[in-house]
Amino acid sequence: MRILDGQPSVYDTVIIGGGLLGCFCALNLARCSLKTLLLEKREDVCTGISKANTAVIYPGYDNRPGTLKTTLTLKANRDFEKLCQKLNVSFSRCGSLLISEGPKGRQTVEKKYRQGIENQIPGLKLLSARELSELEPGLTPKASLGLYAPSAGTVHPWELCIAAWEAAKELGAQTMFHSEVTGICKKDAYFHLEINHKHTVLSRSVINCAGILADQVQALYTEPVIRIRPELAEYMLFEPEKKDLLKHIIFYETEEKGISLVPTLNGKILAGPVNRPANADSPLSTSDAGQKKLLAESEKILPKIAEEKKLRSFSGLRPNPYDPADPQRSLRGMEPLITDTKDGLISLIGIKTPGLTCSHELGKLIRDKVLDFLHIDPVVKEIPPRPVFREYSENPACQKILCRCEGITSGEVLDAIQRGATTIDGVKKRTGSGMGLCQGSHCSPRIAEILSSTLSVPMEQITKDGPGSCYLSPGCQRNLL
Ligand SMILES: Cc1cc2nc3c(=O)[nH]c(=O)nc-3n(C[C@H](O)[C@H](O)[C@H](O)COP(=O)(O)OP(=O)(O)OC[C@H]3O[C@@H](n4cnc5c(N)ncnc54)[C@H](O)[C@@H]3O)c2cc1C
Repeated sequence: MRILDGQPSVYDTVIIGGGLLGCFCALNLARCSLKTLLLEKREDVCTGISKANTAVIYPGYDNRPGTLKTTLTLKANRDFEKLCQKLNVSFSRCGSLLISEGPKGRQTVEKKYRQGIENQIPGLKLLSARELSELEPGLTPKASLGLYAPSAGTVHPWELCIAAWEAAKELGAQTMFHSEVTGICKKDAYFHLEINHKHTVLSRSVINCAGILADQVQALYTEPVIRIRPELAEYMLFEPEKKDLLKHIIFYETEEKGISLVPTLNGKILAGPVNRPANADSPLSTSDAGQKKLLAESEKILPKIAEEKKLRSFSGLRPNPYDPADPQRSLRGMEPLITDTKDGLISLIGIKTPGLTCSHELGKLIRDKVLDFLHIDPVVKEIPPRPVFREYSENPACQKILCRCEGITSGEVLDAIQRGATTIDGVKKRTGSGMGLCQGSHCSPRIAEILSSTLSVPMEQITKDGPGSCYLSPGCQRNLL
């Protein structure tokens, strides 16, 4: 590997991938004053799996008692308010209802109830059809049995991921965007990480949190024992006019795995996912069949949702892990899939649900492994208060409303750019712009102009969401404001 620009930088730990797992690893390692670097191949954090998921903080009845997954989920769920308070992130402990139809669905509900009782989940209760309709009046009358878990909740995954990253930065963690790790080798005590086939950084330890590509990143160093078979997961978002149409998260168990309905923090209803085969490069498209299925399933659970507006559909990638020695052997539902080369490279490969719920707990677990490997006694600092960016949003000259649906001002957009947004979606993730009824058709051109002028980037290079999503096609009219 070539080392450009003189001596390479040397770190205690380098984290590959700026999703929820990478950002929480960075935060927890930076809390121990380790010299930490986050490498992300895209232009921002939270652009992979972490940006499109079901946003549920699970109560912890899905896994067997005593497993690591259960232990992490229970602890994470119990401490979620505290974490969100520290990171200044919104969280709603709205509770969940697992409802069933048919004999198989009923068996699943009963099994999860037994598991939940063993896992000592607070407030867990089996509900009859009558009790279900009292708690959630809009539910299908066909639901014959329900499992109520008041400790389930929902969070905004983008907000959580960005907050973890901002806190890691406050503690001194560095980040390099547009930095794809293209090679890993170890010489003496240091990993040499090649970036974009050009530069090299050195590190005493490496954490691979590369999401859908985590097996490929592991393969840069050693043959992975877990491989990923990607799947596309499709979602649909509703904008309900009736504000109390749905109060709880609904998990729907029928003869096959059903979808979930989630009342989001910003008053929408998220339905999904339905899955279909994909590969890591698949465009994040939705399909006619997938959307029809989502609509039909949503109506089955909550019949009145048929009258509500469908705001948008989107999809994300799901990293299904399998055993490369036996490709038919899925590793679904196994323990958090942490592989450790024992010489300082730890990989999180194929972490699916409840990766969002457990992101902070997994970050702490990985931190302890790294400290152990580096023989460092932990002195763990508190999570610092989240930095406040109000320079522009409190400036009377920046109060023009750009996003009419969500009431976002030009000042808030400028503050989002100070916080690291470089794309229209980067602003959206930090402010909520473009999430209303018009889905950004009014504000996006204005936000693109502000990005262009503030970052001194030609308008033609401003993207909606990174590579391949230029906002203007060549030759478009530039003066949009
Ligand atoms: C459909 C779906 C629904 C889910 N719903 C829930 C839920 O409701 N509740 C819950 O608890 N969990 C849920 N999860 C799990 C949770 O979303 C994930 O575990 C979590 O987002 C962690 O993602 P990540 O950090 O591993 O990956 P990502 O967010 O994909 O981050 C990986 C990052 O690595 C970067 N990268 C890749 N290769 C390289 C490289 N070579 N160099 C540098 N950077 C690289 C990518 O650009 C990306 O930004 C869901 C998962 C899926 C798939």
